Order: sequence, then C-alpha cells, then structure tokens
Amino acid sequence: MKELVLLGDEALALGALHAGVSGSYGYPGTPSTEILEYLVDEFETRGGPVARWCANEKTAYESALGVSFAGKRSIVTMKHVGLNVAADPFMNSSLCQIKGGLICVVADDPSMHSSQGEQDTRYYADFAMVPLFEPVNQQEAYEMVAEAFELSERLAVPVIMRMVTRLAHSRAVVHVADTARAQNALEKGSPADWMLLPALARKNYAKMLDKQTTLREWAKDYPRNTLALNPARKDLAIVTSGLGKNYLAENMAEYADLCGKEGLPSILHVAALPFPADLIRSLAEKVETILVIEEGMPFLERQLAGILPGRVKVIGKLTGSLPRTGELNPELVRAALGLPARATALDGFKMPALSARPPQLCKGCPHHDSYSALNLAVERLNAKEGKVSTVVAADIGCYALGAVAPLKAIETIVCMGASIGMARGAADAGYKYAFGVIGDSTFLHSGLTGIVDAVASKTPMTVIILDNSIVAMTGCQPTMLPSNQLEKAVIGLGVDPAHLRVIEAKPNMIEQNAAVFMEEAEHRGLSVIIMVRECLEAHRLRKKKESAAGEASK
Ligand code: SF4
Repeated sequence: MKELVLLGDEALALGALHAGVSGSYGYPGTPSTEILEYLVDEFETRGGPVARWCANEKTAYESALGVSFAGKRSIVTMKHVGLNVAADPFMNSSLCQIKGGLICVVADDPSMHSSQGEQDTRYYADFAMVPLFEPVNQQEAYEMVAEAFELSERLAVPVIMRMVTRLAHSRAVVHVADTARAQNALEKGSPADWMLLPALARKNYAKMLDKQTTLREWAKDYPRNTLALNPARKDLAIVTSGLGKNYLAENMAEYADLCGKEGLPSILHVAALPFPADLIRSLAEKVETILVIEEGMPFLERQLAGILPGRVKVIGKLTGSLPRTGELNPELVRAALGLPARATALDGFKMPALSARPPQLCKGCPHHDSYSALNLAVERLNAKEGKVSTVVAADIGCYALGAVAPLKAIETIVCMGASIGMARGAADAGYKYAFGVIGDSTFLHSGLTGIVDAVASKTPMTVIILDNSIVAMTGCQPTMLPSNQLEKAVIGLGVDPAHLRVIEAKPNMIEQNAAVFMEEAEHRGLSVIIMVRECLEAHRLRKKKESAAGEASK
C-alpha cells in the first residue's frame, strides 16, 4: 500500500489500471478528460494497457464493447452530454451479455461550469436498467472501479460510474495497492449474446429484466449503501447520494447539537443504483418526512415519492428545501437542516464592484482572425441584400467564444455538430446566406454526417471548418486526422472540389478571407472553407515537446 495525492479523475484511472483494465477509450470533455489523459500517458510512455482518444463518444463506446466481447476489461470515458452521443451503443449494450467487465465513466457537471446543460446520468442508468456507482471521494473513486468490474462480469451487464466536477477536479491522498490485478485472458464472447437480431434481442431483453431482481438483492447488501437507524426519531430521516454525503458530514457536529437528546435522524447513504429499495422501506416505515440530499437532478426524490406510502413526505430539490439547479454545497445543506448561516470573514465586508471577466479567446487566437473576416463578410452580405439575410450557426469548442463581445460572430451553440445541420435548416427556411462554423475535431466528431446531408440535398450553404490542429478547449488532445487529411475527407464526402477552399486564418488576410466567404456564400450549392492555423496553446506545447526531444537526443 502506498499513498498518492490524486485528482478524483486520476484516482479512478489508477483504479482501472489496478483492476486489470485492457482497453480504455474516450472523447475529451470537461470534467472527464483527465481520466483518459492519465491512461493514455500510461499507455504511451510506460507501455501500459491500450488507451486511445476516439473521434467521438459513440466510437469510443463501441471500441470498449469490442474489448469486452474479447473477454477483457474495458472502460470508456466521457462527460454527461457525451453519453447522448454514445446513447445508441450504450442502450443496446445493456441487452448484450457483457463478457469482460465494461465500465462507462460519465462525469456530470452540476452548475454547468463548462457545459451546455446539467443532465444527470442516473436517469440513463435507470433507462437502460444498468447499475451505477457513485463515489463520494477520491479513495472511493479508486476502489469502486474494481467493484464495478466485478459486478459487470458477474451479472454480464455494462456498469456506469458517475463522477461530478467537484470530485473529478479536486485532489486528496489516496491509499493505493502496490500491484495490479492481471488482465483477463483473450476469450471470445458467445455470438448469441452479442447479436441483437430481433429473435435474440427479445431473449436478451428478458434476461435483462430477470437480472433486475438480482441487482436489487445486490444493492441491499452492497456495503457502501449504509443505513444508520435511530428509532427514536419519527419526524425525519435523511437520504444522501454522491457528494450530498460530504456536505451533510461537514455540518454533522452542529446538526447533532441542534438535534439534542433525541439524536440525529436515521441516515441512509445510497452509493449505487438500483437504489436499495428494502433499506429505503425500512427507513421509511416509521418516519413522517424524508429529506433527500443528492447532487444533480431530483432523481432519488422522484423515485422515493413514487414507492413510499403517501403518509411519508419526501422533501428536497422538488419541494424547495434545496435549490433545484446548480451544485450543492455545505451552506445549502446547512439551510435545509435548519442550521443558521455560518459567519464568514466576508460578513460586513463591502465587496468593491468588479468588472465581469467572461471567458475570452486567447490573445492572438486564430479563431479571432477567422471571425473578424466572417463578421466583415456578413456585414457586407447583409448590406447588399438590404435586409438581414445571413445566419451563422456554430457549436462547442474554443470557437464558441466567438459569441462574446467584441466579436459577437455566432448565433447558435446547441451541441457538437449541430452547426452544420442548423445552417442547412436555416437555408431551407429561406436565409440566403447560411454559415455553419465548426472546429476540426468537432467536424470529425459529428460534422461528417451533416455534410453528407447537405451534399445530398445540394443545400446552398457555407460550412467553415476552423482547423487549429488540436482539440483545444479540453487541453490540447490530438484530433483524429491531421490537418492535411481534412481536405481529402471533405472531398470524399461528395463536396464539389471547386467549392472547397483552404485558406489561412491570419490577421493580415482578413480582407482577402472575407472576399472568399462572400464568393462562396453566393454559390447556390454547398461550399466548404477550411481555415488553417495552429492553436497558440498547441503551438507552445509542441515546441516544448520538440525542444525536450532535442535535448534528449543530444
Ligand atoms: S486555446 Fe487555442 S484555440 Fe483556444 S482560445 Fe486559446 S489559442 Fe484559441
């Protein structure tokens, strides 16, 4: 046993290595990115098990399924909205008889620190009827991986591990093993378990339903689901899940004082789904009210309200005891427990008015020059038509920062790849000049199919691929295809080479590039413009690596 100071994400990654993982796949997305970064580093620098970045979460999930079919353990990592992209293989995999353990690690982002929604992955686990593990600290993140693999193999089900931003991105001391479990031997899965032809899928669905009883039994006895009963308290009981347990613990001493001689209410911590219904029923037998403290959406609160007798009142996020949106914290839980607000050093301190500092593109970012040219073209096109005739759809990545002042260059940000589809829809709706702006990595993630649609329908629109040679926003992970192959990929999708332009995103080319945008916007068919210039951060990292390699070879 040794002690390491690890991020929650790193603890989980190390847990996977020590549990004998053979293949790890993912697409970068905050706050999940560091899990696969750790595993890729282990693979590339120390010859650890296979770990690869993928074009998107769907291909990552499918790769992990392939490892499982081969009898070996695999994990696939993504952020919460990434599971929407992987939803097709994920939902169907719940009907396959998983062979090597498969863990889908999903990092949720309550409060939307760097996301477009607060989506709670527990709903997906419930939808697919698969188990979900939810660590409350770095040590659990490390240890639960082995438990999740064991359950996945024992019941032949995919398992979700849900992380949240605050755990993924905070560090703590973790006690870790000195050695790793051996990887599983190569062994083929049975085709009948993996071919979801209707006749076989029906049988597999029945098997999945049968497993629910075993899963509920397992949940009752899972030692991390803990129940501390206090029969003397009939008024209230508390249910926690995820980081809710920590926020309660932080207030526990004062809450015990407040409770006085009757003592603390009964407390059930739900560490994994399916929720332990028997434990919840025994908790609810004699209490009037249950307070649910959970990170994310009111998932348990809704479920409990559905299964408990009407005389038990369930309170939490739905009833206003805790806020419905955003992250929990000790102060919010404190208020829900009826404790007075804590005095802080800021009490009585008058905060001077500070100017807002919204996120911005780096000074000198190539996207700045691309958008400056696009803004100029849009202004001229609108002036030419004598009315608003342009639309600029974009989506997720550093280039989304083109939405803020002074650029204010884009009008939509919905999800990865939506820019191309939305520009097509806008063109269909009647806009004369429809632009879809997308990054190089996002294009490979989910822009390719949008291009196929536009080619098929000969839509008059202009797709602009901002090629900065990297997945910049999540910390410079590699794109799947290098810049010099994007052009071939676009032509391969059926785009007319006469309307594929490759130009440089440079400050001294703004006028010239605006002219290219205007020219292609007038084309009454599909045009694709690839704007090339390396991200400054990627450039810095590349130079650092090259000079380190140069030093090493001296
Ligand atoms: S990280 Fe790169 S792409 Fe992102 S804003 Fe900075 S320079 Fe631009």
